[in-house]
Amino acid sequence: HGGPIETDAVIVGAGPVGLFQVFELGLLEIKAHIIDSLAYPGGQCIELYPDKPIYDIPAVPICTGKELTDNLLKQIEPFGATFHLGQEVTTVQKQDDGRFYVETSKGTAFLTKTIFIAGGVGSFQPRTLKVDGIEKYTDSQLHYRVRNPAQFAGKNLLIVGGGDSALDWALNFCAGNDDGSANKAESVILLHRRDGFRAAPASVAKMKELCDAYEMQFLVGQVTDIVEADDKLSGVKVTGGDGVTRVVPCDEVLVFFGLSPKLGPIAEWGLALERKQIVVDTEKFETSVPGIFAVGDVNTYPGKKKLILSGFHECALAAFGAAPYIFPEKRIHLQYTTTSPKLHKVLGVD
Ligand code: FAD
Repeated sequence: HGGPIETDAVIVGAGPVGLFQVFELGLLEIKAHIIDSLAYPGGQCIELYPDKPIYDIPAVPICTGKELTDNLLKQIEPFGATFHLGQEVTTVQKQDDGRFYVETSKGTAFLTKTIFIAGGVGSFQPRTLKVDGIEKYTDSQLHYRVRNPAQFAGKNLLIVGGGDSALDWALNFCAGNDDGSANKAESVILLHRRDGFRAAPASVAKMKELCDAYEMQFLVGQVTDIVEADDKLSGVKVTGGDGVTRVVPCDEVLVFFGLSPKLGPIAEWGLALERKQIVVDTEKFETSVPGIFAVGDVNTYPGKKKLILSGFHECALAAFGAAPYIFPEKRIHLQYTTTSPKLHKVLGVD
């Protein structure tokens, strides 16, 4: 523990655009640290549509959100960026020497010459279940994500929500499901506020099949209270569509209300904003604070389109825009990856 990490560049956000920023900085021999509040890279591509095909990445006729992320990770490998995942960047402060002090929710600190904000629509936080007294069970008996499926094996589960995550996990843990997955629960009750689902129709059909076979139970209603015994959660009270409140015993409650992106701390770093987006120029994609750049969905400028391909372009120009802060003496020339021996060296393809 020797104080803040000193570096040339910090990238806030490891979505597709933050990842490609590593590449564009790498070509200019700028090493980066990259931070994301999620426990894994990929941003919206991984969090919202890992299996959906994307058709508008140039020269990649079709790839899923997961494939795009995997390929970006492979492409940036030569540049050895350091990942700091599962932590939100909370603080950005300009220092007297012109550098920036950056700190995360886990206390990781940096002193950096430049910052690239690739925060997308903000850091994803799960929408929580709002019931008096239930917060204290968060991560013990109340869960908003499944980190370790094995911990739910043999338990009585109440799964709340009507989207793909709720349905997928309900099916996954259901003992009657024959997809061969391990970690079967003792029982699975799915609870949703209405008898209509946002999830994939095939999952809904499978769920109904399992309910008909008494392998799973589906309830319409909302959690309105908790039931406790011996300082533990023994169940919840569910108020049904009929207005009747019933006790539903369970060992674990899993809530999948989706993730709501929050611009969060980015709004407090003194940058010019316009409708919760960071205002940049289109020459360097620099913000109102010199040395801080913003790329991808998080920025705005005349004609901005929130597309991955626009973000990639922005990364290239932001890297060139940042180079003078890092190498004030050096003239930076554009070089082609096909023909430049220097780029071959940094790419490790010599
Ligand atoms: P994001 O992907 O949003 O990533 C930002 C990352 O920053 C997140 O991981 C977040 O956790 C992190 N972050 C934010 N704030 C902080 C902080 N303070 N500290 C630490 N980390 C932070 N685009 C296309 O071009 N083609 C498509 O076909 C397409 N299909 C789409 C389909 C769907 C369903 C959706 C929702 C979007 C689609 N998009 C598509 C849009 C595309 O996903 C976005 O343009 C792209 O993800 C933006 O990338 P980004 O890296 O700027 O931001």
